[in-house]
Amino acid sequence: MPRQNSDLHEGQTNPLVKELHRVHIRISHLKEKTKIFYFHVLLSRYQCPKCNGELTMTGQNQCSCSCGEAFDPTLAFQKSACCGTQLIRKTFHYVCSRCKKVNPSRFLFDERIFDRAYFCEMMKASRAKAKKKKQEMIKLIMEARSGELPLLQEPCLESVPGLIADLDHFVGADEDGSDDAALETNSVFSMDDYRSHILSALDCGSRFFSKINNLGADLREDRVYRFVTLVFMQNEQEIDLTQYDNDLLIERIET
Ligand SMILES: [Zn+2]
Ligand SMILES: [Zn+2]
Repeated sequence: MPRQNSDLHEGQTNPLVKELHRVHIRISHLKEKTKIFYFHVLLSRYQCPKCNGELTMTGQNQCSCSCGEAFDPTLAFQKSACCGTQLIRKTFHYVCSRCKKVNPSRFLFDERIFDRAYFCEMMKASRAKAKKKKQEMIKLIMEARSGELPLLQEPCLESVPGLIADLDHFVGADEDGSDDAALETNSVFSMDDYRSHILSALDCGSRFFSKINNLGADLREDRVYRFVTLVFMQNEQEIDLTQYDNDLLIERIET
């Protein structure tokens, strides 16, 4: 503590420290004057392309003539060091129009693009922004997820109007006896055939869905028929179904 007090005391009384603020102001004035002088010398080599008048810097990347002409001196007077050709202005720097290599401008007193610290800072800010955006997106997606669906009671087919009729129609159970012949010849799906096929495949008690051979020629359709038959068989408590990854284990329930 006494050390800090003495430092503070010294800061208040040391004439060098006391005058530091004024030194700073002096330095910035000097820098300003140097900048003006630097541009004055640099531009003295060039003339206004319109009236051959004298040019002065009037802003970053801009010089002007008393005739009213204003333009970017880097683009007008500087050629690329690599290919000796026209430069192109990008957001923060100039590049060679032929090989796209960055060329520092002679007409920029504080060339920001080559300020490593400035660039590090910009990159850090950009990364932080991207990270924040990603986190916001994850949060948004998490919030949009639907909640869990606890099945507290057995699904009831009657709760969906018309579902039973549609299922009956799908398996041909709504056809009356007179159409049986037509059904036999035209039908592509006979659940009884699929049922016996599945039962014969379950000789050893259990089998994976993928290991049951197809009955029809259309593999995709056959898969659907086998699956529908299994659902009905499970409903009849003939078999038990357990899902393992993308397959179903079918187990025969012994009666
Ligand atoms: Zn002019
Ligand atoms: Zn080049």
